[in-house]
Amino acid sequence: MRKLNKLNVYGLVVHCSATKPSMKVNAKIIKRWHTEERGWSDIGYHFVINRDGSLESGRSLQYQGAHVRGYNAQTIGVCLIGGLDENGKPDANYTLAQYETLKKLYGDLRLRFPIQEILGHRDLDKGKDCPCIDVRALFLSSF
Ligand SMILES: [Zn+2]
Repeated sequence: MRKLNKLNVYGLVVHCSATKPSMKVNAKIIKRWHTEERGWSDIGYHFVINRDGSLESGRSLQYQGAHVRGYNAQTIGVCLIGGLDENGKPDANYTLAQYETLKKLYGDLRLRFPIQEILGHRDLDKGKDCPCIDVRALFLSSF
């Protein structure tokens, strides 16, 4: 894994696990998907926010993540658990607790990195729905 140069980090990129709310998923399970199924050396995200708002660490911030094509050297990746409805369609179904944790994480990271913005995966990769919400608008309206 490549080292993350703190000075280059300008953004926090929000993702979703693309799982139904009823599905039990956490950092450990996502790590298993990324390592055993995709063959990566570690989980791709730096953080995971569970449905109850609990924050889990993923990949060490010492290393670049593997979460957004072309921007891994300049961003930190966080994954919200959820993002699909019970029919498997994209759905902005995150909990208030998740949003509150995300807001706090963004504030904490801005003290440690020269982060200037929070944005969604889809803002950097137009072919994606992830994370099914307009992250920029959400933070501008400061929920
Ligand atoms: Zn994503």
